[in-house]
Amino acid sequence: MSNVPVAVVTGSNKGIGLAIVRALCKQFPGDVYLTSRDSDRGQAAVAQLQQEGLRPLFHQLDIDDLESIRALRDFLKEKYGGLNVLVNNAGIAFKVHDTTPFAVQAEVTLKTNFFGTRNVCTELLPLVKPYGRVVNVSSMVSSSALGGCSQELQQKFRSDTITEEELVQLMTKFVEDTKKSVHEKEGWPNTAYGVSKIGVTVLSRIQARLLNEQRKGDHILLNACCPGWVRTDMAGPKATKSPDEGAETPVYLALLPATADAPHGQFVSNKTVRTW
Ligand code: NAP
Repeated sequence: MSNVPVAVVTGSNKGIGLAIVRALCKQFPGDVYLTSRDSDRGQAAVAQLQQEGLRPLFHQLDIDDLESIRALRDFLKEKYGGLNVLVNNAGIAFKVHDTTPFAVQAEVTLKTNFFGTRNVCTELLPLVKPYGRVVNVSSMVSSSALGGCSQELQQKFRSDTITEEELVQLMTKFVEDTKKSVHEKEGWPNTAYGVSKIGVTVLSRIQARLLNEQRKGDHILLNACCPGWVRTDMAGPKATKSPDEGAETPVYLALLPATADAPHGQFVSNKTVRTW
């Protein structure tokens, strides 16, 4: 078994994820895994970074596929006995003018952004070693979507005692409410992406709390963040940040020094803790 530290970035064949891998290859003292749901796209991205003189490793990972997540888990357990850095970056967003029915957009978006990310956490968090760092890439849109929720929902999503099961029930209810076209009446904002990212931010707050309760002595720091508005296939060419600039806050959180005890359980943008 290797004692080399290991970092994993989900959805890193392009966009912000690829830029996070690039930065970690330069700054993280260990093996860095670029992962992709499609092995050809992943290997092409590895080749691109190799052209830049970097040495990422590759593993297949589709966060929608539990078998794929578990194959990565078993690989990490066997080869490294765990992992040191996990960046949950993989995500999807329908374009603004996409005509796919809203209920379908809700189901598909929540499936990857919330339920897929949660499944990765469920399988990989137990493997995170002492002084490990976990970064869940959310979005400022989670804050604006929270503001668009009913007072009752806002209170639940800001609660310091909400459980993961209660969060899963709420995310499931959103999808069900969109199918019945009652989501606005039920207090939800009209954004599937926004609700999915509320889920990612609240999940991070819950997971950080559980780490405090169950693994306090392990000094693991787990946060959600927004990368900013970044020029990728998702956000388009008019966005203000380059992918490398978008990687800065996630990489800052992934590389918090061993002496740091904060931030933890926070929502961070531009390397600054934001009020949730
Ligand atoms: P992007 O260029 O569209 O890249 C998304 C990445 O996620 C791709 O590698 C994609 O793989 C991967 N992915 C999607 N579904 C996946 C799955 N089921 N399993 C594994 N990988 C999957 O988007 P981006 O702008 O870099 O976004 C990265 C993250 O930042 C997302 O979580 C996004 O919500 C967040 N974010 C972005 C912005 C922005 O302005 N760009 C702002 C706030 C937050 P494929 O190539 O196979 O599709």
